[in-house]
Amino acid sequence: MRTVDEHLAGILRRVGPLTPLVRPLAEVSGCLLAEDVVAAAALPSFANSSMDGYALRAADVAAATGDSPVVLPVAGEIAAGSATLHALAAGQAFRIMTGAPLPVGADAVVAQERTDRGVARVAVGHAPAVGEYVREPGSDVTAGTTVVPAGTMLGPRTVALLAATGHARVLVRPRPRVVVVSTGSELHDPGTPLAHGQINDSNSYMLAAAVQAAGGLAYRVGPVDDDPRTLTDVLSDQLVRADALVTSGGVSVGAYDVVRDVLARLGDVEFGPVAMQPGMPQGFGTVGEDAVPVFALPGNPVSSYVSFEVFVRPALRAMRGLAVLHRPVVMGRWAHPLTSPAGKRQYLRVVVAGTSRGGRPLVNAAGGPSSHLLGGLAQASALAVVPAEVTAVAAGNVVELIELADVEF
Ligand code: AMP
Ligand code: MG
Repeated sequence: MRTVDEHLAGILRRVGPLTPLVRPLAEVSGCLLAEDVVAAAALPSFANSSMDGYALRAADVAAATGDSPVVLPVAGEIAAGSATLHALAAGQAFRIMTGAPLPVGADAVVAQERTDRGVARVAVGHAPAVGEYVREPGSDVTAGTTVVPAGTMLGPRTVALLAATGHARVLVRPRPRVVVVSTGSELHDPGTPLAHGQINDSNSYMLAAAVQAAGGLAYRVGPVDDDPRTLTDVLSDQLVRADALVTSGGVSVGAYDVVRDVLARLGDVEFGPVAMQPGMPQGFGTVGEDAVPVFALPGNPVSSYVSFEVFVRPALRAMRGLAVLHRPVVMGRWAHPLTSPAGKRQYLRVVVAGTSRGGRPLVNAAGGPSSHLLGGLAQASALAVVPAEVTAVAAGNVVELIELADVEF
């Protein structure tokens, strides 16, 4: 039987960063920038006021104090967005708003709080330094500099800088488009009453959400019956828009486990057991002319989830061009003893029950180990990893924890 590490290594050998694409700015947060982005113009591009107040020449009010203000005539008002080019004559002031362009000839702004807020004439009770409350051109970014280098993981702040420097589109590693197909004739799309023997399809929703949380774009296809022809048609249709395909169910050796047969015919997909629990039956390979990677995950919800975490999430991160493929691992301690099967790496769903004396989280299993137990899975805050060779752990034993943050970059 293949180990988890061998199976994952086989997957990561066959997936790599997606070809960079030019994407609109609204879509690039969470993507790796694939080009150096240069500011064509300086930021700010023109001198403007950082206060609501009066633009003037500092020298004209050098004698002003609170007790003995200097009175200047007000030549006009300049609002943010004003396109008129104003010039300030000596001995004058302009009323000016935050972000409005400084009139030519002004070298300082006095905040309105230091004046009588006059309209025709203003009494200025403060002598500003030259440059006070003036945002000089280029004081933020100088023209020609690389504002965001290639390889940056874009987020709200870098997206703001790209927008501020006038970039509507940038070259990024795109989010992988992942088609999620659940299979099983017992599956029903939730929302209407179930017939006898039916269950609601939870996996396609879970996997689509997991794709999204891993930085992919999920295309969820409703449940597909265990019928080879239907499944072949659905998969062939969906492949055109996919960078990856994730299926759930039908990978065991039951009579109606059609995913194996269909994928084996559509492409180069291998099935086999992986030494793990849950999630032992796994399929991986590529299908179609474009060699789209396919992950055929087992149908039991917990198996499907753990398989996604262990195999699909790192692969999607590799496709996004990220260097860090795995979640951080923290060390905890078991609050209770437990046993684990020999020869399989076990991923147990756990909740934190307290803190050990050494300051580590003390964990308890979240429900039983069976792989249909969605209730426990939803409660769990981490997966505890019990190595394949370990068959029993005592209370207080150290354990590796993979913390399951649902939302991430
Ligand atoms: P399979 O891998 O197709 O043999 O399915 C294993 C178990 O998981 C069966 O009990 C299925 O009913 C269940 N199962 C399969 N697919 C789903 C799904 N999409 N949502 C919820 N349970 C599922
Ligand atoms: Mg099935």
